Amino acid sequence: EHAEAGQAVPQLGSPDLVLLRRIGTVDPASLDDYRAHGGYAALRRAFALGPAGVIREVTDAGLVGRGGAAFPTGRKWQATAAQPDGPHYLVCNADESEPGTFKDRVVMEGDPYALVESMTIAAYATGAHHGYLYLRGEYPTALARMSHAIEQARARGLLGDDILGQGFSFDIEIRRGAGAYICGEETALFQSIEGYRGEPRSKPPFPVEKGLFGKPTAANNVETLVNVLPILTLGAPAYAAVGTGRSTGPKLFCVSGAVERPGVYELPFGATLGDLLALAGTPNPLRAILLGGAAGGFVRPDELDIPLTFEGTREAGTTLGSGVVMTFDDTLPLPRILLRIAQFFREESCGQCVPCRVGTVRQQEALERIAAREGIAADDDIALLREVGRTMRDASICGLGQTAWNAIESAIDRLGAYAS
Ligand code: NAD
Ligand code: SF4
Repeated sequence: EHAEAGQAVPQLGSPDLVLLRRIGTVDPASLDDYRAHGGYAALRRAFALGPAGVIREVTDAGLVGRGGAAFPTGRKWQATAAQPDGPHYLVCNADESEPGTFKDRVVMEGDPYALVESMTIAAYATGAHHGYLYLRGEYPTALARMSHAIEQARARGLLGDDILGQGFSFDIEIRRGAGAYICGEETALFQSIEGYRGEPRSKPPFPVEKGLFGKPTAANNVETLVNVLPILTLGAPAYAAVGTGRSTGPKLFCVSGAVERPGVYELPFGATLGDLLALAGTPNPLRAILLGGAAGGFVRPDELDIPLTFEGTREAGTTLGSGVVMTFDDTLPLPRILLRIAQFFREESCGQCVPCRVGTVRQQEALERIAAREGIAADDDIALLREVGRTMRDASICGLGQTAWNAIESAIDRLGAYAS
């Protein structure tokens, strides 16, 4: 089991790993082995600091969300904890469905107790006694390992009443998604847990105020949560010393496509795209890189000096998103890739709002017409794509519609797709 979990980690055994250090080394079924590898030291420090002290540490560390949007975690926790009327909830968003994203799966399969421990810390800091782990339905191994870890932690007094004799009670319930990409959007995820259709709600109000069951909720991605462990064991200053001013700490990257060694990589923020591809084995010829997944954008092979930080990718006119780095050589025609992305958004749109429900269909139709002309675009179709894309970005309720045109726009503007 250890070796199998480690297969997705090409840097296995590297002494520089922080988030991935136990994966492939620790027995994911053994709480004792987790403890022998440093497990539960962070929770003990959390109890010593108290809830406000944990939030201060996470804020000072500069931790920002790793689901893709980079919202400051300390601010989210502070805002949740400050709500007077409970109950407060903790939700771990493990519905990892962005095409090309598989880091959270590797963490849950290889180091499941790390997520149990970090959820416990997050709940302690925000005043939650009930946590939900919303797990992608297509992750059966992660489900088995997380279920086992939660049971073992409960049997050993690390979940349930009076955890470690500190008077704090917390437990975790797993809910499985059923294959809808939109249920990873936090408010659609709440709807799903509550038993309704997975349709996003308008924000604000933000979940910190009115989240699951209308109550204050801290919703965090798996990778965000496990970063809390090194923040507490190393201390905020040491953690914040890694990375750049606005993107601190280590980051996981999901490298796939035409590279020699695909997998989950861990690098400090600030390494360049070229540094990462050098580790993974740059494809030859390198035609394009999709950063941030289907909701992200394409960059060219001559842009490998882009720093892998939230601010650096933004300055370069692209996005880091959840850390997807999908590489393409010349074996796949670009129009086919773009059509596939458009189909994905059309299929996954929940249909609740007009710009996205209609826009994703119009976008796919225009790309189909272009594909029928073997990639040669009529200017009218490009103009239509731009107009539809702008409307989706400006007027859609949630991130799905707002980003459904990103990759196609970047392929046209950065890669020169369809230029005649
Ligand atoms: P968002 O910017 O609306 O929100 C980010 C987080 O910050 C949310 O939890 C939100 O509740 C919170 N927030 C924002 N403003 C707040 C405020 N003023 N007060 C309190 N909380 C506040 O983004 P989003 O729609 O949640 O996420 C979009 C991102 O999701 C994209 O960057 C995309 O890359 C990523 N994504 C990831 C996956 C995946 O599988 N990991 C899948 C799809 C999309
Ligand atoms: Fe649904 Fe798309 Fe509107 Fe989001 S943008 S609420 S996915 S229709």
